[in-house]
Amino acid sequence: MSSPIRVTVWNEYRHEKRSPAIAAIYPEGIHGTLAAALSKHPDMAVRTATLDEPEHGLTDEVLAATDVMLWWGHCAHGEVSDAVVAKVRRRVLEGMGLVVLHSGHYSKIFKALMGTTCSLCWREVGEQEVLWVADPSHPIAEGIGTCIILPNTEMYGEPFGIPVPEEQVFISSFAGGEVFRSGNVWRRGAGRIFYFRPGHESYPIFHNEQVLRVITNAVRYCRPTAAPVADKAPNVPMGWFRKG
Ligand code: ZN
Repeated sequence: MSSPIRVTVWNEYRHEKRSPAIAAIYPEGIHGTLAAALSKHPDMAVRTATLDEPEHGLTDEVLAATDVMLWWGHCAHGEVSDAVVAKVRRRVLEGMGLVVLHSGHYSKIFKALMGTTCSLCWREVGEQEVLWVADPSHPIAEGIGTCIILPNTEMYGEPFGIPVPEEQVFISSFAGGEVFRSGNVWRRGAGRIFYFRPGHESYPIFHNEQVLRVITNAVRYCRPTAAPVADKAPNVPMGWFRKG
């Protein structure tokens, strides 16, 4: 078997510490729930990192040893160090995969990579969401079938302030009538980025088997396909690539 995909699950990890109701849903934190689910797969080697660790748990050593990073944040985007964001962005350009979840749409790293507002409209009344598979042939939708139905979610609606997705995997509809581009792929440099909408902290979304299947598929899809691509512009002599 080829070497396992080295996954780092990053979580802001604040709601779970402050709210007993949210801690009851995610006793080990959202990162702990996601890491436990991914660790069931023998092709993945999973670690976690959180905001309040030194360097947010994202040291140079951790970044160098990460093939795919998951990112969940919500109430403390502004506390994420710009220096760490710059390092994560550089790793994406080199080829690291990035899976941005739910309220991560407003994270510094996602906005830096998209270059747009990443804004959206929202409502929290616990309504039903249907995540429609827009591209059944896409590897991230493998095993999902027609749709995922989440009985109680926060609504995110268009317009979503993102660049036009390069690959559109899911589109959501909500009980209130809104729609949303909820599973989107972009390339930035050599790295693949997947944004996946579900995952509000006060609902057990990350215990849903289909949601976890999508995230697992996305980790495999976003893994680097080559050695890290360096950012350099060498001055080279004529004919340097010819032999002899
Ligand atoms: Zn939310």
